[in-house]
Order: sequence, then C-alpha cells, then structure tokens
Amino acid sequence: MQTAPTLFKPETCVNRQRAAAPFLPMSRKEMKTLGWDSCDIILVTGDAYVDHPSFGMAVIGRMLEAKGFRVGIIAQPEWTSKDAFMKLGKPNLFFGVTAGNMDSMINRYTADRKLRHDDAYTPNNEGGKRPDRAVIVYSQRCKEAYKDVPVVLGGIEASLRRIAHYDYWSDKVRRSVLFDAKAELLIYGNAERPLVEVAHRLSQGEAISELNDVRGTAIIRKEALPGWSGLDSSHLDKPGKIDPIPSPYAEIEESCSTKEAETVDPKEAEQAKPIVVQLEKKRPWENVYINLPAFEQVKVNQVLYAHASRIFHLETNPGCARALAQRHGDRIVWLNPPALPLSTEDMDGVFGLPYQRVPHPSYGKAKIPAYDMIKFSINIMRGCYGGCTFCSITEHEGRIIQSRSEDSIINEIEQIRDQVPGFTGVISDLGGPTANMYRLNCKSPKAEETCRRLSCVYPTICHHMDTDHTPTIDLYRRARKVEGIKKILIASGVRYDLAIEDPRYVKELALHHVGGYLKIAPEHTEEGPLSKMMKPGMGTYHKFKELFDKYSKEAGKKQYLIPYFISAHPGTKDEDMVTLALWLKKNKFRLDQVQNFYPSPLANATTMYHTERNPLHKVSHTSERVSVAKKGRQRRLHKALLRYHDEKNWPIIREGLTNMGLTKLIGGGLHHLVPADSKRGSRGAGNRGYKGAKNSNFAATRFTNKQFKQKR
Ligand code: SF4
Repeated sequence: MQTAPTLFKPETCVNRQRAAAPFLPMSRKEMKTLGWDSCDIILVTGDAYVDHPSFGMAVIGRMLEAKGFRVGIIAQPEWTSKDAFMKLGKPNLFFGVTAGNMDSMINRYTADRKLRHDDAYTPNNEGGKRPDRAVIVYSQRCKEAYKDVPVVLGGIEASLRRIAHYDYWSDKVRRSVLFDAKAELLIYGNAERPLVEVAHRLSQGEAISELNDVRGTAIIRKEALPGWSGLDSSHLDKPGKIDPIPSPYAEIEESCSTKEAETVDPKEAEQAKPIVVQLEKKRPWENVYINLPAFEQVKVNQVLYAHASRIFHLETNPGCARALAQRHGDRIVWLNPPALPLSTEDMDGVFGLPYQRVPHPSYGKAKIPAYDMIKFSINIMRGCYGGCTFCSITEHEGRIIQSRSEDSIINEIEQIRDQVPGFTGVISDLGGPTANMYRLNCKSPKAEETCRRLSCVYPTICHHMDTDHTPTIDLYRRARKVEGIKKILIASGVRYDLAIEDPRYVKELALHHVGGYLKIAPEHTEEGPLSKMMKPGMGTYHKFKELFDKYSKEAGKKQYLIPYFISAHPGTKDEDMVTLALWLKKNKFRLDQVQNFYPSPLANATTMYHTERNPLHKVSHTSERVSVAKKGRQRRLHKALLRYHDEKNWPIIREGLTNMGLTKLIGGGLHHLVPADSKRGSRGAGNRGYKGAKNSNFAATRFTNKQFKQKR
C-alpha cells in the first residue's frame, strides 16, 4: 500500500502560533472573543455541535484548526432562508456541508418510511430540526448566501450519494448528489486527508475548479481528465456475456490466491542468476478510469444498475482502485480513487485533538441522547472488512483497519475519568465498527494492495488475515488497570467467526467485559439470506456460544448472548422467516426490538432490493434473481415473525402460515408457532387450540420483554 505523509507535519500548518479555541465558534460574539474578523472555513452540519471525537464535525473542525485555519460551525440552521447561513459572515475559503453523523433520511424515517418524531443528535431529542436531504438544502442555502464561495460536501449522506444511486424513499434512482446540491466538490469516506489537502491548496491560491486530483473526492467535469486512459466497465464484467478479466484482475487473482506458495528447491535458488535491470513498471490501475453506465441508463435498466454497483464496489481498495466516471447528461461525475488510510500516528493525532468532550455551552442543560450514549465510550479503530452487504461502513470507512495506539486509547480513558462530568468509573465501550478487528490486518502487503475481495472473512476467513487477538487482549488488560476504572464494557458488535479463531479473546471478553448480556448479530439462521448478507452460517454462532458459555461458567457468571436478526433482507423467503421464528422459539428467545431491512444508498443489499439481482457475482440479464420482500404486507409478515410471541402479530402470522400451507404451525402445542384464533376455533390438522401461556413454552422463555429493555 502506498503511504501518505503524516497529516500532522508541523510545516504544513498555515498558522502555528494560533492556540486552539475552547470551542469552535458558533456566533460572532465567540469569534470576537477569539479576535477573529472572519472564518477561513465554515462547517454547516445537521447535528448539534458536540466537541467530541465521535461527532464528525468536531473531528473535521479540530483537524482544520490544528492546521492553522479559523473554523466556525453553523449547527442545525433554520433552512428556509439564507439568513442562518450568514450568521458567521462570509468564509474566506469555503463552506463544508454535511447532514451530520447520520443520513438525514434514515434519521427522519423508519425502515417502513414512517416519520420519526425524535432525533438523538438534537438537544432534547427533538425531531424536525434538519431538513430531508439536508446536504442538498444546506448547500443551496450556502450558495444563496454567498454565490462565489465554494461548497464542499462531506459526511455519510454525501458519501453514499456520490454516484447515481437507488433512493428508497422516492423509490427511484437519483443522480449524484453533486448535481442537486450545486456544490463544487464532494469528499467521500473519512475526510481528514482530502479536506486538509483541499484547504491548503485553496489557501495557496488554487481555484476549486483546478482541484482535479485529490484522492477521496468527487467532482463534475465535462470530460474525463486529461492524462487518464479509460476502460469501459463492460470490459470487466459484461452484462449478458462474461469476458475474460484483463490484467488488473489477473494480479489480484495471483495475490489473493488460496493456493499455498509454491515451494522452491533451495539448490535451484542458490544458483547464480543474471541480474536483470528493469524500469519500474507502471501499475495497471494507475491513471486508469472506468466508465460506468450513464445515469440515464442505470435509471431505467436494473441489470446495468446492478452491474455499475458491482464495479463500484470492486474499486474501493485505496491500494489499487481506479478512478470512476459516470456520465449524467452532458457532464460526468468523476470519482478519484479513495484516500489512503490513516497511519496509527495519524489516528492518534486525530483522536488527540483538543476536544472539550461535551456539547457546546449554548445548549445549556439540554440532553443530547447521542452524546449521552457515547460520552463514556472510546473508538479504538476505523474500517471494517466484514463486508456485510446491508451495511455502509465499507463504502464509507473502507475495508482497511486503521487502529490507534494503546497509549492514545489509554490517554483517552484517563481524559474521560478526569474531565467528563458524571463518570462513575465504567467505560461503556472500547470498540469501533467491529469490537474485535483492532490491529487485525492483512498479513501480506502485496495482497492487501491489490485485493478486490468484498470481504476478508466471507465465505471463509482469508488465509492472509491475521486472527491473533493479542493486541486487543493486551489493550483490554492495560485499560482495566487504569486507576479509577471499575469496569470496561464491550458494546460494539463482536465478529464471532473471527473471535472463535482465538478462544483467548472470547475468554477475556466473557471473564471481564460483559455486563450480563452480549449483543451479537447472526442476522439470520438460513443460508438464503445469509449468503446475500455475506454473513457466516449458524455453525460459527454455535461455536462462539459454546466458548462463551464455557468461560462464563468458569467465571461463575450468568451471562447471555442477545442475538440480533434482520427481517425482509433480500434473499429471504417467507419460509426462511418461519424457520428463523421456530429457531427463536426453540431457543427460548423473545426479541424486543427488531429491525426490518433498511435499504441505505449504495449498499450491495440495496442493489439487490432494487434490481432483484445479485451483484456479489457477475451480473447479466440471465444471472441469479434474488427474492425480495418489497410489499408492505410481506415486510410486515417478516418482521412479525421475529416477534412471534407478540399477540398483536398473531393475525398476520396466522394468515401468512395459512398462505404457505403451514397451518400445522398454528395451535397451542410446543411445536406450534402461534395459537389458533380463539374466536374462530381451531385450524389445521393436529391443532389442539391455544390453551394460554401456561401450557405453552412461552411461559418458559429465558427473557421477559422487560429484562430485555433494561439490558439494551
Ligand atoms: S486478508 Fe483481506 S485484503 Fe488480504 S488478501 Fe485476504 S481478502 Fe484480501
């Protein structure tokens, strides 16, 4: 993997004398106190401003501040006029616009497109404080306020809408957000590296229209950039006909091969060989771009949409990704290859910035639920190589794990202990996108640089992947010894197929880091949906459970796993949900909160939802069709089956079972899923009628809803 210069080189700081502001200013008054006549950069965000490393705007603001820029924040502005966007005056360099930590549509609507009335990122949990499609609205208001000031988009909402994408809420394919927002540039993924480069180059007098080559950015141009050679995406993966894969992929096959290295006869190796001087070969992905099918094509053709999505996901490794171009009318969206990952030194620098770790004082005593949830937790790494198709972390943070050093994490624990009001000695999480990927990286630099696998752990754990959990175990042990720390909990999801490779980790977890219940996400029990999610089978879950139960027992602790499942995921048939419900019943689980599949932009599973094709394999007009629960009633049935024990769900489950010819599962016996409708009498052969919870094993369920609520 290419390396990039450290982000924190002092000579790249535009003003080394300027001290950090107590908080980044949100008003003219604060600017005046700091002695500023203007801001260099103004960040506009859909979240409340919490000066904490878990809030994207604080990270970006503090990062730019560390480089010597004067940064102001406009948080949750009133968006119906330009006034609120002018409150800090005109920025000298640019507006940075984000919807916040969450996509504004996911924040505002449930998976069934119902309006939510709360917002965890807003003081007092108040809903309606940001507009739908906030990135577009904020950007347009910035342009109305100051037409000549460049607008740079960032954050998850912009990132996941960087090319044409299926939009679940309007049920259509929308063009790249850059067009609707009328912004000059979009930063995708973690923004530190590209944003610092953009800020520096603009401050040195370059026009934003000249910033063609910043990694991790998307721009609109009339034509492909000069000096780049184009490759049509159909050369890589032709819809309708499978072509041989050209050289860039040939290299991957070699590097990711599951074959063991060929053995070389040592005598042969010792023989003298002529020295061949070779000029450094240009790597096949350098200055190459791929032409994706145009917006106008993917909008109407689902095969081409699935094909474009597949190519897009294959070009996400910063080591070997090519640029992507997608025509929209007479212009193209140009995606430069992803930014290079942050080194441990850079990660430490980012997390070591002078955050106050509390909300901006202007919020007074108002509670911000998202802050309350994370104020005692610590992010130890970024990235995830699980590749779960319903998750957007890979599209945003990438597959390469970027870990902090132990020292940096321990410093943060001490800061929480010493600074954060209300800390009682319990760290609520030491985690990240996945709890147990800390410092677990690909062992082969060459393979890592050229790899295009969508997951390092599916269908099996790649033989290049390091599964030795020693760094995480050492970190937990050191963290427990910090003075004043009573307990360190692990609340991030544990990747259990990885964990069972190192039982010492499971032991450490069970012995010291579980507060009675451990959340775990098998997501389903059936191979159909699991294969579309890229999740491991239940065999690994059972192995993990065995180890977890064994070590919990050894420690004399009563601890339980809480499994999470997704209903209505692409690839799930009604029968799969029934089997899952029976598994839940057999294992005496009564789930409290359950989640229907939520198609977020650009996720692989969203492509399946929209196109009913499988982009995990080559896509053509005749390739595998994926069964998708799209209609309201079928989605409701799938969700209801996860809560088979809830009386409110029995009518829809009875109807579903009857339609499937499974009336044998309706009745009051142990082998039945739901009781018969007492008003209508018994149904189906062998139905003994529902005799109440006393006679069913509902009474023997391990957890009550109340217990679940308390623990989750
Ligand atoms: S460990 Fe991951 S990055 Fe490395 S070769 Fe295997 S799949 Fe590719």
